[in-house]
Amino acid sequence: MAELINGKEIAASVREQVRLEALELKKNTGVVPGLAVILVGDDPASKIYVGNKKKACLEAGFNSFEHILPAETSQQELLELIAKLNEDKSVHGILCQLPLPKHIDERTVIAAISPSKDVDAFHPINVGKIMIGDYDFLPCTPAGIMELIHSTGVSVSGKKCTVVGRSNIVGKPMAMLLLHENGTVTVCHSKTKDLAAECRGADILVAAVGKAKLITADMVKEGAVVIDVGMNRDENGKLCGDVDFENVSKKASYITPVPGGVGPMTIAMLMRNTLTAAKLFAKL
Ligand code: NDP
Repeated sequence: MAELINGKEIAASVREQVRLEALELKKNTGVVPGLAVILVGDDPASKIYVGNKKKACLEAGFNSFEHILPAETSQQELLELIAKLNEDKSVHGILCQLPLPKHIDERTVIAAISPSKDVDAFHPINVGKIMIGDYDFLPCTPAGIMELIHSTGVSVSGKKCTVVGRSNIVGKPMAMLLLHENGTVTVCHSKTKDLAAECRGADILVAAVGKAKLITADMVKEGAVVIDVGMNRDENGKLCGDVDFENVSKKASYITPVPGGVGPMTIAMLMRNTLTAAKLFAKL
């Protein structure tokens, strides 16, 4: 039976460490980390995420600046707000909650955020820096997953790693981080011919698809480390991941639950990135 990777507990300890470092930063330099979160429209899930980010900022002793804009906000208005936040010395991190309304081009908006304040690490400059292994920020979800893998004591080096999903937010950077730690990485997607075989070969399996119970026990190697990024609703409306947890946990050595696995780490890493941005601002 697999050991549970307790993301809630690990995230709490990251957040406590960030809080202590933020206190120290304030004491030594007077700088209080500040995170500006922009929400355009009233998507209910996005509202919850933004609320959680504000709460995490307050707990970490950060300043939190919320900009809730109506759905009909023009791209130009949004870009003007970002330009102001880029110049604001009390703001060290800027995050624009995705998805944006259809009339706004996400790429243009992401590229408008100053790379030094891009705590999501989505800006093309930061993506390029991650690619060459010379970065200030890592995208929050993959960075959080690396923390979870490290917590198991299993080394990535030389292991076969399979990432299912190739989004810019999770799958692609995840593959890159595993590669940086010397994993032998396979990336799967909707056109992959034999997903089961690609997964079965993996010592470390990361599922980031968004399809409930896509990964079944027959697709998992005995003793694998299984990380479930998916956030889905099952047939009863209950939150579940991409992995058939009940059966896969009988085969894996370590597994993340949903909820309580990857999810809490994402916000913890956002707090860490904001602290890093504030330290860079303070030239520490
Ligand atoms: P995307 O929809 O952007 O990407 C999904 C990926 O899965 C695509 O690359 C797609 O392939 C691939 N895919 C779809 N169907 C299959 C299939 N049958 N077999 C293999 N691959 C498939 O999703 P995200 O990366 O943004 O998110 C993935 C999941 O993770 C979602 O459930 C999301 O809610 C969750 N999530 C959770 C976070 C957390 O903090 N816990 C943070 C971010 C996301 P193709 O490219 O070919 O279309």
